[in-house]
Amino acid sequence: MNYNEIISSIYTKIKSEDNIGDLANYIPELAKVNPEKFGVHLSILKGEKIGMGDYQEKFSIQSIAKVFSLCMAFEMLGEKIWDRMGVEPSGTAFNSLVQLEKEKGIPRNPFINAGALVICDILISHLKNPMGEFLDFVRFISGNPQLNYSPTIANSEKASGYLNNALCYFIKSYGNIHNNPTDVLDFYFHLCSLEMSCEELSGAFMFLANEGMKSENNQVILSKSQTKRINALMQTCGLYDESGEFAFKIGLPGKSGVGGGIIAIYPKQYSIAVWSPFLNTKGNSHRAIKFLEQFTTRTQLSIF
Ligand code: GLN
Repeated sequence: MNYNEIISSIYTKIKSEDNIGDLANYIPELAKVNPEKFGVHLSILKGEKIGMGDYQEKFSIQSIAKVFSLCMAFEMLGEKIWDRMGVEPSGTAFNSLVQLEKEKGIPRNPFINAGALVICDILISHLKNPMGEFLDFVRFISGNPQLNYSPTIANSEKASGYLNNALCYFIKSYGNIHNNPTDVLDFYFHLCSLEMSCEELSGAFMFLANEGMKSENNQVILSKSQTKRINALMQTCGLYDESGEFAFKIGLPGKSGVGGGIIAIYPKQYSIAVWSPFLNTKGNSHRAIKFLEQFTTRTQLSIF
């Protein structure tokens, strides 16, 4: 398979087409990002690495970080975490409040904001220095000690994150947030502000394509069964209310963020990250979805 040719022809074609959508304007710092940025990086398990466009430029990975926080909580506490949230797609927006009242403060899954806030709460309860230890975990799985939060983006979201405040306090009223909501929100805004390039992201996610082990040395991060569960959740809930369409068109477990990044995994084969900041109405990158759809069509590979 000539991945280089496939990536370069899809990239060139999409770049020549209209770039449509909106930036994540509700986070003032993200409204300043250049919407023409476009990067792709493919890491093949024990094979080639191919980058195109702005693949080495760091961007705000936002909700893609929720996969890291889930992995950390799952690794530390195992199946217990599912007492505090479900594993069902929500069929609603990533920041929706509607199901929480009926479902008594139990979020549908760990990838919607409500679920990610509960994961932050769990980590705060079990770690001495959650912000530092979470960063160490991401640096460890990515093998990159340079990774960091963006305090500017975290503060920008903190100053405008009314909906996330509402979600956190609402869940607290049902007793499913145990710590001080201010601390939970601060940790949440920081993990969303992590900055990584497509190259760094596709490398960091390789363990999910490698049955839970680091691809360079087979060091275990998650068990095989836990890895399958994370991938299943990415497949069913990773793109919020567009997860069904993503499975239908792309056919791979994936996770998006409002910074415009999407990561997708082909178990035992590869990990691919695409970044383009304009979002569709579901909060997912317009060009990244387009790219991945054409990529899995051209390669004719999908887990289905
Ligand atoms: N920090 C963002 C928020 O909470 C993350 C959302 C996302 O990337 N979908 O709104």
